[in-house]
Amino acid sequence: MTKDTRVLKNIIDPIYWKVLHDTISKGYDAKQALWSISPDQIKCKTWLVKELLNIPFEKPVVQLYGGWFGFPLIDFLERHFKLSKVENIDIDPIAIYAFKMFRKHKKLSRSKYIKNANSIIDYLLECLPKGAHLKNVTNGSMRNEEFWWKLGGLALVHKHKNFSTVFDIDGIDQEMHSQYRRNTKLQNVLNNMKAFSDNGVSNTHSKTIIFKHNQDYMNEIDRLVKQYGSQYHSFVKSDRFQKDKNGNYKPYIFLDENGKDVILEWADKPWEKTHISLQTENLKKEIVCRWAKSNNLNINFDGQVWPCCYIGAMAHGQQRDIFNNYELIKEYNLNSFSYNVKYTSVNKIIESLWYTKTLQDSISNDPLHVCKKQCSTQIRTPEQFQLRTTL
Ligand code: SF4
Repeated sequence: MTKDTRVLKNIIDPIYWKVLHDTISKGYDAKQALWSISPDQIKCKTWLVKELLNIPFEKPVVQLYGGWFGFPLIDFLERHFKLSKVENIDIDPIAIYAFKMFRKHKKLSRSKYIKNANSIIDYLLECLPKGAHLKNVTNGSMRNEEFWWKLGGLALVHKHKNFSTVFDIDGIDQEMHSQYRRNTKLQNVLNNMKAFSDNGVSNTHSKTIIFKHNQDYMNEIDRLVKQYGSQYHSFVKSDRFQKDKNGNYKPYIFLDENGKDVILEWADKPWEKTHISLQTENLKKEIVCRWAKSNNLNINFDGQVWPCCYIGAMAHGQQRDIFNNYELIKEYNLNSFSYNVKYTSVNKIIESLWYTKTLQDSISNDPLHVCKKQCSTQIRTPEQFQLRTTL
């Protein structure tokens, strides 16, 4: 008996047969799907489900990474647990297709199964009213051109919504780009942006963070991004810099991908025309929560809802240990599921005690450093905030 026949004999659920049949009919190589239901794999998956059943939590959140063709495992989990959400972050088209067919044959509800970022955005656009804007800001290096091409195609599906993506391009070559941008390949970002824009309908934007090392290349960057499909490019002066007692900007020490120090300098060339948002112009000594005022919220990639992007970014930034030690954040983290869109509706989150009282008390009585820095003039003068310009 060959290995393959032994595997085939193991397929007892007719739905697995159907998935294999669909996958092969589509012209895909179904070898990986076959091996995901091999006797050894089934043994491993059965063991895992048994172990999970012993976990003494009422609502465990289990994150499973790796492994081709997760549908047999999801099938096992479905039989033993009441799953509320299944996220499939696989980007392999064969695996995605096999899972889609499995869900269809099993008649599993579509809304429970989130395929990947593409379908999350598709779903969000579907829910938004006509004329709504949805902006996706990205370093644009992850995933392949096919992914970005499909994502750009959502502009055709949702013609009455404004979906845009902003790609970060920080230089004319890899060396300049990676002075500030981490773990990204400039050429990949450019190719992905081109793929996203190729249908001629999607809103493709780009942005450069300006420091001393790239301030003399703004014209070249502008030309480069236009060649790769950007319809609108803006430049933003980095606002990471503090002044010394003589009023000079101090260098900013940043870590590279290997944890080594990189020294960045403030862009000292004045700009002729700058756009400062009205909210920044009106800043005062007293803290005014800019995001609350403009009725905005920040949802991080992991589903956590934070009051603004400044705080949302700190939750994953290099200073996160210090950030997690603030009383305000400790209180949030104690109950983090209650502020996560995967488990709690946005309405409930903004009506929670943390949002309606704890955060507001903190801003009035014991504000975080970031609140003083971003939403008042206690730490920076208005000129030290982000300046924006276009060519
Ligand atoms: S930094 Fe603080 S005050 Fe400013 S928007 Fe965020 S939460 Fe509000």
